[in-house]
Amino acid sequence: MSDYKYKRVLLKLSGEALMGNNDFGIDPEVPQKIADELKPAYDAGLEIAVVVGGGNIFRGLSGAAAGMDRAQGDNMGMLATVINSLALQDTFERNGMMCRVMSAIEMHQVSETYIRRRAIRHLEKGRITIFAAGTGNPYFTTDTAAALRACEIGAEVLMKATKVDGIYDCDPVKNPDAVKFDKISYREVLRRNLHVMDATATALCQDNHMPIMVFNLDGDGIFDRALRGESVGTTVVE
Ligand code: UDP
Repeated sequence: MSDYKYKRVLLKLSGEALMGNNDFGIDPEVPQKIADELKPAYDAGLEIAVVVGGGNIFRGLSGAAAGMDRAQGDNMGMLATVINSLALQDTFERNGMMCRVMSAIEMHQVSETYIRRRAIRHLEKGRITIFAAGTGNPYFTTDTAAALRACEIGAEVLMKATKVDGIYDCDPVKNPDAVKFDKISYREVLRRNLHVMDATATALCQDNHMPIMVFNLDGDGIFDRALRGESVGTTVVE
């Protein structure tokens, strides 16, 4: 444990990442890869919280674009995150990692309800704790849920796993000349309108001095290396 820079972290995974090469849903290989990445830090006794999105199943905004009531679509999106959370819990447990799912929307039969003090207790006992159903409110995103929960549980850093390996000055997929930042301020992220996280999530982190580490969870032990203090991706700070 003393080799690690952090003790308690929150990892935000996008729902889309769970699709792997599929167009929808969950490719079982992806949760397994995530479990492999988390295992060394779990075994070392780090306290790991997870928030997963639901974009691989449903997004409220897409529903609204197709004429659906936005809040109704968002409720569906939040339920999608519960499905993803249960899939991750199943994989983590099969890999010998204790795990609890806590949902922001009550559903006693499938998960615990989110209670901040109980979540902290789970973490202290070494259980990976997955926060499902976003914030429990429509018109929010799971990035904001991740920022909120990170602040509530006193995480030292919010680690956001993305498709690219950090924050660039423009989209690196479309622009081969895009320049990657090692460090950038919240203000700069907001001013340049860089889509790292939505503005609500970024502002919440800024107000509460929560560092954000943006990186690509592409294997090779990157999660563990980052927790040991190796500089990976981009860090958003003051
Ligand atoms: N959502 C919501 N409130 C929240 C978090 C999520 O209504 O606090 C809904 C929203 O419709 C969102 C969907 O859940 O589109 C899935 O979350 P998100 O789009 O953040 O997932 P990701 O992009 O990370 O896969």
